[in-house]
Amino acid sequence: MTPLGRLLAGQIASEGPMRLDRYMGACLLHPAHGYYATRDPFGRAGDFITAPEISQMFGEMIGLALAQAWVDQGRPTPFTLAEAGPGRGTLMADMVRAMRAVPGMVAAAQIHLIEASSTLREIQRETLAGQDVTWHESLASLPDQPVFLVANEFLDALPIRQFQRVKAGWSERQIGLAADGALLAGLAPPTRLAALEARIHDTKPGDVVETCAPAVAFVGDLAARITAQGGVAILIDYGNWHSLGDTFQALFAHQPVDPFATPGEADLTAHVDFEPLAQAAHAAGAQPSAMTAQGVLLERLGITARAQTLAQAMTGQALEAHIAAHRRLTHPAEMGHLFQTLAIVPQGAALPPGFDAP
Ligand code: SAH
Repeated sequence: MTPLGRLLAGQIASEGPMRLDRYMGACLLHPAHGYYATRDPFGRAGDFITAPEISQMFGEMIGLALAQAWVDQGRPTPFTLAEAGPGRGTLMADMVRAMRAVPGMVAAAQIHLIEASSTLREIQRETLAGQDVTWHESLASLPDQPVFLVANEFLDALPIRQFQRVKAGWSERQIGLAADGALLAGLAPPTRLAALEARIHDTKPGDVVETCAPAVAFVGDLAARITAQGGVAILIDYGNWHSLGDTFQALFAHQPVDPFATPGEADLTAHVDFEPLAQAAHAAGAQPSAMTAQGVLLERLGITARAQTLAQAMTGQALEAHIAAHRRLTHPAEMGHLFQTLAIVPQGAALPPGFDAP
């Protein structure tokens, strides 16, 4: 067992079974043994590769969408250019480079990063050397001014709970101990849950429903800021609308593994349900877009023209890799459809380019 596994097993032995969100939170962010706290998981040598690490075009397109929203909202100066869960800092670096094409924008931007991992903060500091950057634990400490924020594969790292439908209620998935002391997923006794009452009507016994309260709270707080101070959010993640089913997964060295076998050593994620996020944005007085597939969004933002321009300076293997990267980001059979996006703006403001109204 991993060091974190021993720690959690001890906790379960003394306190009883552990909820999935507590398990997921500990595995990802435990200060000494958590996955993000102890490593740089990105890239070919790591456990997974994200869109900004696949090609600079991803950050350029998203950066230009934020830039158009900044121009549409009257070029507020100064403004907060923010990212939640910036990984290696690659997306922010690519966005800032693209934004230099818009006169005055980079000079007006104050960069704020929301990042829990001190290991990744160090890597972000190197990637963004030369920029003035401030780090935060959460949205709460961002300055009170218009906020233009992006989050790619951030919400999928926030801890979820899972509930299995029984006849007239729900059994929560929790982690206990097997006879040999290993961690073992099981189900709590059934209860009725007010928060899931609406899902009784579209599920049947055996179905699994996931909730992610931290994601809903994050989007609610963000939308309240956007309503009060202006700005835009672009959220990008693996996801669906009105999700159903078990999407909890663990990746190690690009391979799916048992999420309970090596706590702290594998990346844990769950697909994002965009429906409650759009509802939270609406409830905070902001305007959410329709959920839009990543491939559609990038095509509308002009990724193919950008790909052709970059291709002119390439030959051989570099050109082949570039063509593969464009396909990987946009094709429906690759990331183009699996990844979905949502924009949030103040009521009455224009949505960023590429997004439709709901
Ligand atoms: N956006 C990056 C990285 C995605 S991985 C990319 O596309 O490459 C998830 C990121 O979110 C990591 O930087 C991780 O450390 C951070 N993170 C995860 N949970 C967090 C939390 N609760 N608060 C702040 N940052 C968190």
